[in-house]
Amino acid sequence: MNKIPVAILGATGLVGQRFITLLANHPWFEIAELAASDNSVGKKYGDAAKWQLPFEIPEQLAQMIVLPCDPARVQAPLVFSALPTDIAGELEVAFAKRGAIVSSNASPHRMDADVPLVIPEVNPEHLALAEIQKQKYASNGYIICNGNCTTIHLALGLAPLHKRFGLKKVLVTSMQALSGAGYPGVASLDIIDNVVPYIGGEEEKVEEETVKFLGRLKGNQTDKMNMPSLQSSVSALETISVEYADIRVSAHCNRVATRDGHMETVSVEFAGDADAKPKYADIVAAFDEFRGLPQELALPLAPNRPTVYRREKDRPQLKLDRDAEKGMATIIGRLRECNVMDYKFVLLGHNTLRGAAGATVLNAELLYAQEML
Ligand code: NAP
Repeated sequence: MNKIPVAILGATGLVGQRFITLLANHPWFEIAELAASDNSVGKKYGDAAKWQLPFEIPEQLAQMIVLPCDPARVQAPLVFSALPTDIAGELEVAFAKRGAIVSSNASPHRMDADVPLVIPEVNPEHLALAEIQKQKYASNGYIICNGNCTTIHLALGLAPLHKRFGLKKVLVTSMQALSGAGYPGVASLDIIDNVVPYIGGEEEKVEEETVKFLGRLKGNQTDKMNMPSLQSSVSALETISVEYADIRVSAHCNRVATRDGHMETVSVEFAGDADAKPKYADIVAAFDEFRGLPQELALPLAPNRPTVYRREKDRPQLKLDRDAEKGMATIIGRLRECNVMDYKFVLLGHNTLRGAAGATVLNAELLYAQEML
């Protein structure tokens, strides 16, 4: 089988390194090009990357010469972006205009009306938005985004509840690991023996992206479709949009001195009458039974269980649970009644796997399986 050549933009960074490990032996994709900043251009990847993972860089990739993040130089039809926020916006559009499909991990386009912000188990039907971009750019290219690392795990944890019972309010407090800030990230003297109760822009991302993930695709035909049709007519496309979920989300985001994995404490209030609220066992069953298209399609990186509910009274814990299901699941536990909202629980997930590169690769696998590449 001919694999699809792919490029990684921001390949030398923390998320880029995760892309390397996830794509090095991928059954459908083959790393053809690696790109980064001027500091790295022209160097061998093995010399340019400050490698942070406990695996060897595959020799062939270590020898690859790093290219500039220039759409005229990077030719692959599928591009994984781990670019910094300040440059991702323009560059990703330039790649889409030259016909590349950009599976992005960066934030600038996540909330654009015509950009699918997708978790494949949660809202795969939002992929239909890509057709609007193809027309806008007059090319086969488009951008698809995954969410913020805290938001992805929150949305995965909320989706089983919102789909089954309907949610009205969510209050979340995060404890976010240092790798979420990239490399070298937060200065050691700022974080050792400390918790920093501020991560710029993070709370807004959690509050806004969550309701887009859990929103409903509106528009002609698409309401009735399980998945987008690539042959959608122009008139149908003009009316496609995402109606954000009617959930009020309030977030507190904190940086803590852990390496990988974000933990979140969550309180939820359900929609509907008080006497119709789900029982404890109904909620646990919703977490246990939640599955989506990646599991149905057996996508290579799909976890068997996207949400894992732990029954122990002191789980989930970061060190014990972040790598469950290849780092691609959201681990939940400590469900109990809340004196203020309806229920509260703890969730956690790996921020550079399911929260970043793993999410981007899973989105691309979904595109491949839906013949959208
Ligand atoms: P990082 O470790 O700081 O890596 C940044 C990468 O971008 C490096 O490859 C760097 O290349 C490259 N770069 C920097 N300036 C550039 C420029 N002007 N032109 C081209 N390339 C440039 O950051 P990261 O943690 O991997 O994050 C990458 C993106 O993913 C960011 O948008 C971040 O917000 C997002 N994200 C991160 C996480 C996470 O958990 N870390 C989670 C979700 C989303 P050089 O090595 O050559 O400087």
